[in-house]
Amino acid sequence: MTAEPPPTVVDVLIPVAVDTAYSYRVPKGLALAPGDFVVVPLGTRQTLGVVWEARSAGGDNLKQVVSREDWPPVREPLRRFVDWLAAWTLSPRGMVLRMAVRAPEFAGAEPVRIGLRRAGPPPTRMTPARLRVMTVLDSAEAEAVTSKKALAEAANCSAGVIDGLVDEGTLETVALPPDPLPPPPDPDATAVVLDPAQAEAAAALAARAAERRFTVSLLEGVTGSGKTETYFEAVASALRSGRQTLILLPEIALTAQFLDRFAERFGVRPAEWHSGVSVRRRARAWSGIASGEIKVVAGARSSLFLPFADLGLIVVDEEHEAAYKQDDGVSYHARDMAVMRGRFEEAAVVLASATPSLETRVNAETGRYGHLRLASRYAGRSMPALAAVDMRRDAPPRGRWISPPLAAAIADTVADGKQALLFLNRRGYAPLTLCRSCGHRFTCGQCSAWMVDHRFRGALVCHLCGYMERKPDHCPHCGEVDALVACGPGVERIAEEVATLFPDARRLVLSSDMPGGTERLRQELDGIARGEVDVVVGTQLVAKGHNFPNLTLAAIVDADVGLANGDPRAAERTFQLLQQVTGRAGRGEAPGRALIQTYQPDHPVMRALLTGDVERFYRTEIDARQRAGLPPFGRLAGLIVSATDRHAAETHARALARAAYAATGGDPLARAADAAPSIEVFGPAEAPIAMIRGRYRFRLLVKAPRSADLQGFLRRILAEGPKPTGSLRVAVDVEPQSFL
Ligand code: ADP
Ligand code: ZN
Repeated sequence: MTAEPPPTVVDVLIPVAVDTAYSYRVPKGLALAPGDFVVVPLGTRQTLGVVWEARSAGGDNLKQVVSREDWPPVREPLRRFVDWLAAWTLSPRGMVLRMAVRAPEFAGAEPVRIGLRRAGPPPTRMTPARLRVMTVLDSAEAEAVTSKKALAEAANCSAGVIDGLVDEGTLETVALPPDPLPPPPDPDATAVVLDPAQAEAAAALAARAAERRFTVSLLEGVTGSGKTETYFEAVASALRSGRQTLILLPEIALTAQFLDRFAERFGVRPAEWHSGVSVRRRARAWSGIASGEIKVVAGARSSLFLPFADLGLIVVDEEHEAAYKQDDGVSYHARDMAVMRGRFEEAAVVLASATPSLETRVNAETGRYGHLRLASRYAGRSMPALAAVDMRRDAPPRGRWISPPLAAAIADTVADGKQALLFLNRRGYAPLTLCRSCGHRFTCGQCSAWMVDHRFRGALVCHLCGYMERKPDHCPHCGEVDALVACGPGVERIAEEVATLFPDARRLVLSSDMPGGTERLRQELDGIARGEVDVVVGTQLVAKGHNFPNLTLAAIVDADVGLANGDPRAAERTFQLLQQVTGRAGRGEAPGRALIQTYQPDHPVMRALLTGDVERFYRTEIDARQRAGLPPFGRLAGLIVSATDRHAAETHARALARAAYAATGGDPLARAADAAPSIEVFGPAEAPIAMIRGRYRFRLLVKAPRSADLQGFLRRILAEGPKPTGSLRVAVDVEPQSFL
């Protein structure tokens, strides 16, 4: 066997929004291989890139690679994943690579901590601030000073004072070794006793996690059945085989409880990866993940792009969650992408949920995924007793939303020393403010959205763009004073009603926009768990995963909210959300109950919740999707055309639609029999949200059978159709979450 000649030309992918990998000549003496980080000239500057392909021929007239960075290379499975994801989402490959390397923020592998120490003689000019700096460095505190900022804080001076001392040679910066990593999680840290159903599922998952083979399993179990406990055994199995695990969580900011549970089972917390983690800690995690020292990562969807050295298991917790869909920049669904990453890494993938998405359900039913079920709650705990409040009969007085039966249930619960949760998926006080005198409605000038009354903040807020204004005391349209009325409820308003009905109850409003951010939210959640609150009013934030042992009543204030918009996915979404909320009740020793306020108690979603006949609900929904050729039986893509000018957006969308219709073989009504295999184009129509941040939006929907090459079709119409100019933009959304 002869050794391959060293590459003389490399194609380098640069983490910016371009698809092409540019070719460069390899300088003599530099050994390069695919995956290496390199610095290359680009135009007038130099930039960081990753070697994508390497060849050993020609390249004499090419520009030369400047240098190679001594960082762990981007492994082949991750490179193939980047290529695949770019093709799937019709995004430039460099843009997807950017998500993987975030150069140079994290790719800097060894994050250097900077220390400062005395080097030269004392400064010639001594000021009080300089004296304080010297005193700190001569004291026992010096050890703790690991950055310029820390020193400036300790000495109570500006960073400039320290810079001055460094310039004069009095101080010197030194690189300190990185923070040591915590020991790896220990699969045998605690002995858990699983119940028989859990043990069976755990054994199956553990076996799969021990294989070096791509598999997908759905772990479906009612709320409180112990899914987490069960998939932890798969994690233990991966740890024993020395391979890494990624656990994806939909709301990482709220998962302190999860991290603690993990630590109880495995002795230490997993590495955390999401935007709330400091850049320095992420840099440390990045290198530990690339070197393989970090064995388990719990993270948000961005952790899908981490440079694992040997990924053996991916768990997607609450796999049905809409939060897994990313819509800015590259549109992707983290659950689907987790499955693909698993395929490239030859890893086991576990999708866990009490209410799986229809897509995953169908994949499990057809045998493509393994299907493991936990049918009952752990330790013989019962599911909450569910009842509907028929709001047509039991409606509260006008301007109130808590019906008499719900009020009675809250009273009982609180009197019992237990906790109640009132769920309403609407932030703020009221979704709409209007003028009683002229009918004027407050809308955002930049978005097609009402301004939401946030009374605690004294402001009207647009939930789409965040624009905020002080609530005026008169109507800006007719000038009438004291004529503004709040219409409909948000969580703040429900809390106000609770205060009126139960003045002595301790109340808490929880929603994602509460002041104090994640830290405050964690504290509040701990407070609920400790029983410091009687009635919690919350948005979907409180619906997820939490374990509140003393919470025995879960109530849905308005179960009909999500059903009205006509989206074929609305029933599924509503079912999942309401099931999650009701599942919060009765997770401790005391049995729970759930009340559902609805004007349509006979709606299939309500029937499924109330009778517990989940199978029938899924059957009906799956059949309807199949008849309509909707996902997962067919495939969908949205093309969103937007522009600052409404007419321009609409005209371009029309032209794009014409190109698309032509590509399907003409007018869909008069299509020739031999046309492209029944790809259908709908629209253009105003997008479900017609304007965001001053941009008007029109949408085309493309529907294709599973056998058709949807991406190929989209690429063709984008290449052959009209090109966007000026403020026009076309965004592709493969498998959009809304089918409207
Ligand atoms: P799910 O994720 O299915 O909603 P969890 O994994 O959160 O359920 O389990 C619900 C509760 O039951 C948790 O408090 C968990 O600690 C407890 N639990 C589940 N299985 C076991 C077990 N085998 N041993 C001890 N506690 C368990
Ligand atoms: Zn707005």
